[in-house]
Amino acid sequence: MTEQQTTLAKSVSIEGQGLHTGTKGTMTIKPAPANHGIKFQRTDLKGQPIVEAHINNVVSTDRGTCIGNAYAKVYTIEHVMAALRGMQVDNAMVEIDIEEIPIKDGSALCFVKAIEEAGLIELDAEREYIEIDEVITMEIPEKKTKIEIRPSKRFSLAVVIDFESRVLGEQSAILDDISDFKVKIAPCRTFVFLHELEFLLKNNLIKGGDLNNAIVFVNRKIPQEEMDYLAELFHKPKVKANGKGVLNNLELYFDNEPARHKLLDMVGDLFLLGKPIRGHVTAYRPGHYANTEFVRMIQNKVTINAFPND
Ligand SMILES: [Zn+2]
Repeated sequence: MTEQQTTLAKSVSIEGQGLHTGTKGTMTIKPAPANHGIKFQRTDLKGQPIVEAHINNVVSTDRGTCIGNAYAKVYTIEHVMAALRGMQVDNAMVEIDIEEIPIKDGSALCFVKAIEEAGLIELDAEREYIEIDEVITMEIPEKKTKIEIRPSKRFSLAVVIDFESRVLGEQSAILDDISDFKVKIAPCRTFVFLHELEFLLKNNLIKGGDLNNAIVFVNRKIPQEEMDYLAELFHKPKVKANGKGVLNNLELYFDNEPARHKLLDMVGDLFLLGKPIRGHVTAYRPGHYANTEFVRMIQNKVTINAFPND
């Protein structure tokens, strides 16, 4: 059975704020022709430069995946990339008038909803997949990270995280079929540890952050005066942790929401191959750096296999 490439039936816009820059802006996901792939366009810059969402354009993986070229950068693309892949959108032009994709609630849900609202159409071209014909393994011993892909007729992904902390130890998440992405993975929010948050806040590295766009885990006892100081930073009257170590009594959507979010990130990062991939991926302690290094490895193998005499 062949599948056709898709794009959105109409444009759809999302307003929001970047997590790291705090700037408010508008992102518009627009239909694009077959074989266009996913591209980002900075409409706020002179000449409205375009950056293709491709591994070759990844310029940083510090707290998010950033792509760029000589003319423009786009920060924190992973959640919208995951939504596009998760909803099986092959082609789209993502216009953005700020340098960072809006963080919204820290998940991919609002992007998925926007894509659903726009609807999809099939294009007059067959969907192409990146096919894997051998096991590819990558290890980063100092991070205790291991990612592997095995040949398979379909795409599936299993993720294990372990922050070696009382509140966030080992947990896993599985995506067996991409059609489950919307319900099982898209709503899962990003998370941060309180001590990281304090560092980021003090160093002005998150400006759009409040307590509504990340799950905050507290993995040590916090003195009241520190809690009061945090409340002030967040412009909240009071902050406290619940019994599970989650700040401000936020309810988790799933017990393993953090693992599911890491899986979400990986769906987005894997789409930097430019096409969907077939294979069974297992990832132990993944992250944007490891994910993109792994994508680079796959990209190199696929290119070498395509041009064996080079
Ligand atoms: Zn994420």
